[in-house]
Amino acid sequence: MYKAINKTNLRQVSSLFHRFQSTLVVAEHNNDKLSPITLNTITAASRLGGEVSCLVAGTDCTKVAEELSKVKGVQKVLLAQHDAYKGSLPEELTPLILATQQQFSFTHICAGASAFGKNLLPRVAAKLDVAPISDIIEIKSPDTFVRTIYAGNALSTVRCSETVKVFTVRGTSFEAAPVEGGSASTEQVSPCPPVGVSEWLEQNLTKSDRPELTSAKVVVSGGRGLKSGENFKLLYDLADQMNAAVGASRAAVDAGYVPNDMQVGQTGKIVAPELYIAVGISGAIQHLAGMKDSKTIVAINKDPEAPIFQVADYGLVADLFKAVPEMTEALKK
Ligand SMILES: Cc1cc2nc3c(=O)[nH]c(=O)nc-3n(C[C@H](O)[C@H](O)[C@H](O)COP(=O)(O)OP(=O)(O)OC[C@H]3O[C@@H](n4cnc5c(N)ncnc54)[C@H](O)[C@@H]3O)c2cc1C
Repeated sequence: MYKAINKTNLRQVSSLFHRFQSTLVVAEHNNDKLSPITLNTITAASRLGGEVSCLVAGTDCTKVAEELSKVKGVQKVLLAQHDAYKGSLPEELTPLILATQQQFSFTHICAGASAFGKNLLPRVAAKLDVAPISDIIEIKSPDTFVRTIYAGNALSTVRCSETVKVFTVRGTSFEAAPVEGGSASTEQVSPCPPVGVSEWLEQNLTKSDRPELTSAKVVVSGGRGLKSGENFKLLYDLADQMNAAVGASRAAVDAGYVPNDMQVGQTGKIVAPELYIAVGISGAIQHLAGMKDSKTIVAINKDPEAPIFQVADYGLVADLFKAVPEMTEALKK
């Protein structure tokens, strides 16, 4: 016999539905510190309702597991340590995630939409034979997600009917989970035998004392208008006065002015700082896709018709070689 569904028991059914979710967040870290995007991913996972577990896989990462166990919203930390997890190779991490999935039967598996998550989760989804959903910006319900398409010009709402939902999370669309207030239990997970089809040799990261581009509160970005790599010094000087990160357009990267880890945009990094200053950047749609969610946008461009002015809150039509040093000097006072 069926019970008629009224508003009250519809709410009860929906809260039960939420309670039965269990989500695995694959933590991104460097064995010493958690990457900030994992905190945003935990917030997204918490929106699904139910239990949130985090998998920390690395070579010597107990410190990261301890850090995670204090994060609000995390109920369980699963810790797996083995030399094979050096460099977070997807070939080695995937069997571990699959074994964890077999043991705990998560309803959702997610990671941040960074190079780490983009590299790993499609492989996990393929092995589980489910379709992944990439770079989600909103969660409507445990099976319905919003993501951008056409370089951020349209939003697509996707209902996922897979038994296990595998997705990556756009960090800038979710607040970071508080790093205090949690008291998760930690459980050791047996590492899987190494697969050995790929080997991590080394990585050379650009060293910088400036804040990291995707988590900085202020970003100063330069484009082709800078005309050379040497001229980026003008932006570094300005950035130093504001504790800002420095980004770039793809044209500046392609011209060899700066390394490609500084690229902001559709095929670069997505940023949403409090303040974004675009210097000598025209505002092509592919660049806007990476920065238009910034709280306040300032543009400096000598062309009053440059499309960047259409998204800018404040625009300065000026020669950057005059305006930027003046701004730097004014900030020094
Ligand atoms: C598939 C695809 C993906 C892409 N992904 C990205 C991406 O991720 N990120 C990205 O940025 N682009 C991306 N692009 C490239 C994008 O289309 C543009 O070509 C690029 O953003 C242009 O960079 P820019 O604004 O620096 O250069 P330009 O378009 O050449 O603009 C330079 C600007 O500098 C101004 N300027 C020149 N001199 C001065 C001066 N002295 N003072 C003040 N202003 C000055 C000019 O008025 C001009 O507006 C992508 C393109 C494609 C096809």
